[in-house]
Amino acid sequence: MTSRLYPNIIITGTPGCGKTSHCESLVESLNDELRSHFQHLEISKVARERGCIDGFDQERDSSIVDEDKLVDSLEPDLREGGKIIDWHCCDVFPERLIDLVVVVKCDNSVLFDRLSQRGYPDSKITENIDCEIMQVILQEAKDSYAPEIVIELSSEDLETMDDNVERIIQWINSWRENNPDGASNELD
Ligand code: ADP
Ligand code: MN
Repeated sequence: MTSRLYPNIIITGTPGCGKTSHCESLVESLNDELRSHFQHLEISKVARERGCIDGFDQERDSSIVDEDKLVDSLEPDLREGGKIIDWHCCDVFPERLIDLVVVVKCDNSVLFDRLSQRGYPDSKITENIDCEIMQVILQEAKDSYAPEIVIELSSEDLETMDDNVERIIQWINSWRENNPDGASNELD
């Protein structure tokens, strides 16, 4: 039986809502000691680097990730702890390895502007705005993890992002206080 001394955190949400910005700001805002134990895993990149891409979906204009292969590949990383997972899918990781799921939300008109700026085709913008309106990712998070580890944070500007990052750091500190011997990587 192994345990992790630092929590694994998923930062998820509709594309464009600010996942990567939050992850980068979180890592930057950790003090030096904590930062040395945390790692930002931008899954769209990790999947490519580790050969977990299984084709391209022309209609949705996005790569298809082999989720089983990806999750198998990430298991050793997650067992180490201190992983910040940056991905729009949140429901593929084993519950026993996840300590917090942050769903980043964003106002629709702001999201629209961000996705347009990325040069996404109209169909992809509409698909993502619908996803945000229907709270698809929040629902997936709630369906997959215990309600007490799923939190929603909104952010349209830098100030609220700083507040969100501060909250996550406070959560990390209290997790460490509450788990002085770490958390088990196995099912209880
Ligand atoms: P995601 O990783 O969820 O696709 P990003 O973090 O890449 O989203 O953010 C999309 C765009 O919105 C980027 O240009 C980023 O700079 C901007 N952005 C994200 N969050 C904020 C925020 N809280 N305030 C201002 N700009 C933001
Ligand atoms: Mn991103």
